[in-house]
Amino acid sequence: MSIEFPSFSNVFWLDAAQPLHEYPALDGPLSVDVAIIGGGMAGLHCAWYLRNRGLRVALFEGSRIGTQATGRSTAKITSQHGLCYQTITQKFGADHAALHAHHNQMAVQHIRQIAQSIGPAAAHEVRDAYVYATTDEEVEQLEREAAAARQAGIKAEIVDQVPLPLKALGALRFPAQGQFDPFGYLQGLADLISEKIQIFEESRKRCRAHTLAG
Ligand SMILES: Cc1cc2nc3c(=O)[nH]c(=O)nc-3n(C[C@H](O)[C@H](O)[C@H](O)COP(=O)(O)OP(=O)(O)OC[C@H]3O[C@@H](n4cnc5c(N)ncnc54)[C@H](O)[C@@H]3O)c2cc1C
Repeated sequence: MSIEFPSFSNVFWLDAAQPLHEYPALDGPLSVDVAIIGGGMAGLHCAWYLRNRGLRVALFEGSRIGTQATGRSTAKITSQHGLCYQTITQKFGADHAALHAHHNQMAVQHIRQIAQSIGPAAAHEVRDAYVYATTDEEVEQLEREAAAARQAGIKAEIVDQVPLPLKALGALRFPAQGQFDPFGYLQGLADLISEKIQIFEESRKRCRAHTLAG
């Protein structure tokens, strides 16, 4: 299934962006140890963690770095994903919920550290994350989620008020999460890794043709 994304002009992060850093398209054979396909959050982080491993690594982006799902996201970096801790605990057990919480918290920390290396372009801020309730039934759900999240190791707490201009009966707060400029972050990350890793843009078809050719 292909997804049609809106044009740049409908996306806050892309509209607010500085002129894009351009990378060349692949124009011939290239031999590498690791080929990373995609210049979004997943691909650029793979590149970041591989950059000092003594491998020849190249990253191939079919469009432009950061302009797809990541550059069009809501820009939160959180361990909180709706009411996921109840669901994971019920389906897979408390151990898996704790594992999920631990790795999510580690990712929040790692992204914060990488954002510090990038600097102002990442526009990273430490912020609390909230899921809020507008009915009594939802408040009960939040209380169950708070218990599951705490059991998983998150310092989750129920609060009466949300610092947002909306009417809520209560909210579940996860402290010290993050928000950033996802497009600025990925552009900055690409900039940092480009010293050690070759980056190609507009290289979807060429990349596929080379793969098929073996
Ligand atoms: C509306 C929305 C809001 C979201 N908000 C959040 C949020 O606030 N916080 C959060 O954590 N998550 C959020 N998510 C989820 C999050 O955006 C994604 O999990 C994450 O950004 C995806 O990163 P990615 O690298 O997998 O994908 P992308 O950022 O889309 O990167 C994949 C890249 O691969 C390239 N590509 C694909 N196929 C090929 C190919 N064959 N050859 C070369 N290149 C290729 C694409 O062009 C693209 O640039 C949101 C998602 C949506 C849809």
